[in-house]
Amino acid sequence: MILIGTMNLTRTRDSGQFYCPGCRSNQEFRLRARRPFLTLYFIPVVPIGGAELFVVCSNCREKWDPTVLQVDPKGSEQVQRDQFCDEALKSAILVVLHDGFISETEIDALIRIGNHLLGQPIDREVLGEMCSIAEQNQIRASNYVTTVAKRWSPDQKREALQAMFLAATAEGTLDDSQIKLLTAMKQTLELDDRTYQAAIDEALQWEHV
Ligand SMILES: [Zn+2]
Repeated sequence: MILIGTMNLTRTRDSGQFYCPGCRSNQEFRLRARRPFLTLYFIPVVPIGGAELFVVCSNCREKWDPTVLQVDPKGSEQVQRDQFCDEALKSAILVVLHDGFISETEIDALIRIGNHLLGQPIDREVLGEMCSIAEQNQIRASNYVTTVAKRWSPDQKREALQAMFLAATAEGTLDDSQIKLLTAMKQTLELDDRTYQAAIDEALQWEHV
């Protein structure tokens, strides 16, 4: 009797560093090729199909499609996040600039907002520069948000609204024009009443984070 069977042979074709979307950081990878073989007495003799390629992260052990190796090494998610943080902070600055003036209290609030968005302390000088650029450009907050919000996820829209709300309330109370501005933002960001209210309730907890 002849013993015939099949088995998959997996070989490493390449290795190096890649940005793992699972770990959200750079990790070692192995590019693996799996190919089915016909076996004779348990020895692989003839390949019976094409090789299937996949990438394995040496840290989380997750498997990824080889196209993962083409992802920007800095990580496309991180790039998108950085861009969002920048845009959300600019939106908050423009909300503060709505009355044409930034007070010391408002700068402190913007620093707290920046710290919260970035997850790390924002440089006072960087913030000051952003404020003066915004002041010179004279782009209205609602126009700016209308443009950039198209790229934001629903969660990011909520987060940006929270940043703008905290910026608007930095001086304590909201005046009529600020209330109008925030209502316009709610519409621009397509947030329903419940989401809007929940986002604001949550924003009030930011200070304690
Ligand atoms: Zn990983």
